Amino acid sequence: MNSKKSFYNLEINKLLVELGLPEEALKSGLAKKEIKKSIEKYGRNVLVEKKKKSKTRVFLEQFQDILVIILIVAAIISLFTGQIESSIVIFIVLLFNAILGTTQIFKAEKSLSSLKKLSSITTTVLRDNKEFQIPSNEVVVGDIILIKSGDIVPADARIIKANFLEVDESSLTGEATPVNKIEDAIAQENIGIASRKNMVFSGTSVNSGDGACVVVNVGMNTEIGKIALLIEETNAIKTPLQKSLDEFSKKLAIVIMIICFAVFVINLYRNMTFFDSLMFAVALAVAAIPEALSSIVIIVLAIGTQKMAIEKAVVKELKAVEGLGCVNVICTDKTGTLTENNMKVESINKINNKEEVINISNKHDLYLLSVCILCNDANMSNINIFDENVKISSTEIALLRFCNNYLNIFDFQEKHKRLDVIPFSSKRKMMYTLNSFNNTNLLLVKGAGEVVLNKSKYIFDGNLNVLHDYKKNEILDEINQMAQKGLRVLGLAYKEYGKDKEKINSNDENNLIFLGLVGLIDPPRKDVRAAIIETMKAGIRPIMITGDHETTAVAIGKKVGITSNNSITGEKIDKLSDDELEKVIENTNIFARVSPENKIRIVSLLQKNNNIVAFIGDGVNDAPALKKSNIGISMGKGGTEVSKDASSIILMDDNYSTIVKAIKNGRNIYDNIQNAIRFLISGNIAGILAVMYTSLLNLPIPFAPVHLLFINLLTDSLPAIAIGMEDSKVDLSKQKPRKPKEFLLSKRVLRRVLVEGALIFASTITAYTIGLNQSPYAARTCAFLTLCTARLFHSFNCRGSESIIKRKIDNKFMLFSFFLGIILVNLVMFVPYLQNMLKVEPLNFEFVKAIFLLAILPTLIIQSFMIIMETIRSFKFKKNKI
Ligand code: ADP
Ligand code: MG
Repeated sequence: MNSKKSFYNLEINKLLVELGLPEEALKSGLAKKEIKKSIEKYGRNVLVEKKKKSKTRVFLEQFQDILVIILIVAAIISLFTGQIESSIVIFIVLLFNAILGTTQIFKAEKSLSSLKKLSSITTTVLRDNKEFQIPSNEVVVGDIILIKSGDIVPADARIIKANFLEVDESSLTGEATPVNKIEDAIAQENIGIASRKNMVFSGTSVNSGDGACVVVNVGMNTEIGKIALLIEETNAIKTPLQKSLDEFSKKLAIVIMIICFAVFVINLYRNMTFFDSLMFAVALAVAAIPEALSSIVIIVLAIGTQKMAIEKAVVKELKAVEGLGCVNVICTDKTGTLTENNMKVESINKINNKEEVINISNKHDLYLLSVCILCNDANMSNINIFDENVKISSTEIALLRFCNNYLNIFDFQEKHKRLDVIPFSSKRKMMYTLNSFNNTNLLLVKGAGEVVLNKSKYIFDGNLNVLHDYKKNEILDEINQMAQKGLRVLGLAYKEYGKDKEKINSNDENNLIFLGLVGLIDPPRKDVRAAIIETMKAGIRPIMITGDHETTAVAIGKKVGITSNNSITGEKIDKLSDDELEKVIENTNIFARVSPENKIRIVSLLQKNNNIVAFIGDGVNDAPALKKSNIGISMGKGGTEVSKDASSIILMDDNYSTIVKAIKNGRNIYDNIQNAIRFLISGNIAGILAVMYTSLLNLPIPFAPVHLLFINLLTDSLPAIAIGMEDSKVDLSKQKPRKPKEFLLSKRVLRRVLVEGALIFASTITAYTIGLNQSPYAARTCAFLTLCTARLFHSFNCRGSESIIKRKIDNKFMLFSFFLGIILVNLVMFVPYLQNMLKVEPLNFEFVKAIFLLAILPTLIIQSFMIIMETIRSFKFKKNKI
């Protein structure tokens, strides 16, 4: 044996030898020390991502900015013109900024990758004789893994036990039909992946059945790992917001360059010295470009998602955070999302025999139970059905729990071996098994009530009779009545065969013998109703898309508050054209008996009509719709690994009401970012206006570039982050979903930013004029200190749209960053050494007083305006009430 290729050729015992494992490993899994050894020998189960940027690289990248380059040029020029201090300060500030930027970006990245861990796909492994649920990337070579329907295979593994195991390998081979897996060694050598039927491969998903496998390859040695080299690791996709900000910055930079150049030329023309003209141009550039913007957005997103995770909504893709604020339709699955997925058999309907009592000496009743126990995917040997936490399809478990009252289900399953199965699929809505039963083989069928009924030709209630149409209608009526109570109704049927029959063929599916109905109750989740009402107030339309019976769906809908003028079934949907369906969707909130294809179609049509759709689902059948929707949301506890993989947000507590919190947080994060940007830009506008004003009037320059750098990078960036950390003030009922195309700074916000900028400019230039009476240097000092302090005060205006009176300052970080800024300003103002460095003139007390008053003035005006508006509004509101 020399190559890894031939694991499928080996018998299991040889395979163990090859992997250096003892025989017991098959039963008990790896021991702790073997895990360590395996990692040393074969490595970890991680695909090598594109190399993460090193700290030095990120640090150096901070200097790539055009703006920073301009500044470096300015510093060098200063150096040559003998202004050594000035250039040193520029360098120090740039260095400081680069360090700050690097550490912040790394912190943000760390918090984002910790989120990634929370949302990672998990696998069940057998270790030290116990079963563990571990993150899939912790699986090692030699591990015994247990896989079941809905799981994602964590690594390449050789199957040791396959129980009607069917795996979808389309992600690897492109082949859409699922592959039936086997246990036996394959003699043939050098066969393709698709033919290695006794192997499962990393990244593929289990469609049905279950099995146990021993891991043979991990990480880059897996089949997917071998091609992963070709796949770009997309670990740093920018969100739409970040992209539009980038674009905005680029455009801004170009405009600024042009203006700067114009100012430079005009000044030269007016006989200003070359150096002074240059300094004007540079000052303008520094004043205008919001250097800290992009790193602040990353930081705010990171802080926000961290908070969402604490509130049980784990964000897998950052872009979902922004998307949440735009969602105006939530499509949700019923079972497990709106309901608890904790089913219980509520009633048995034996058709002709109204008595619900079960008597197993009666052949009819015995067959009825046989379908429930044998045509059932809950594997007795693997799970304890009485454990409340077991998450295998609770339909199956409910049936077993019920039957356990009459029979020993373990013995019964053991005795009547399964020979073949056609697993349950959401499309077919039924499952079939073939079991040996005494001296016959029985085909056993269970599925959606009316679907099974339609496949039946006979009825058995002790006697075998033809199922006449009138009888069929009677039973349909029964189904409807049960469904009206919100029950999930299953139909049970069978067919008898001789012992020679060992496989199910497709024509066995018809002419079944109908046995009866089971009604399962699945109570709605506690908080769902309140949550749905809240989302509706927020302008979000809830839609239920379920595989269940129409009447059941409507009954549950009523209980949880999803009401609808009409409801429709998948069967009818299939007959509609897209245009017709579009009209139906407009006023239908309940879709029943849908197939996975129907789900995608509904989502696409909603999107076509400019809706932003969130789709909540937990099953294998939901994965395509989760991917198709704008925001796919899955369930952390009860959801299948496949659905988690396909979603962009995971609700860790499976609770619908967590979505409401997530939407609030999503909107809040977006608002906070917008406020932070508003804060930065309005301050910059004040700086730009001051430079332009003095340049046009041929006055001395109001700031040295260092001053603006000091503001933009130091005193402004902390309050901006603080604004980004404001707690949610979102009142969903007052805020409709945002239009996705709406630009970050809407006209209304832009107007506000301009006014605020102009106010701060007015203060700054007044201080400048006062200072000019003394000297150009004093003027510059006054302008700089006023602008800086005014912007610090201004941070309190940018927390949202409410005044300080209406919304108390409860954000400690906000106060902290304000006072830190004030301390910095004071240091610059009063410490001689710093005065020198930052070219600040010592000022007398009168000046300091004036600066303080002028700096607080814009904020007083803005706050007074807000308070007046609030009073008028509340006055109007009271009047309306009277
Ligand atoms: P949903 O979970 O939204 O009800 P599914 O596609 O999972 O949608 O199920 C569709 C229908 O198929 C169910 O309403 C039920 O009647 C039937 N069904 C569900 N699970 C099983 C199962 N394990 N075996 C047989 N029939 C089932
Ligand atoms: Mg389901």
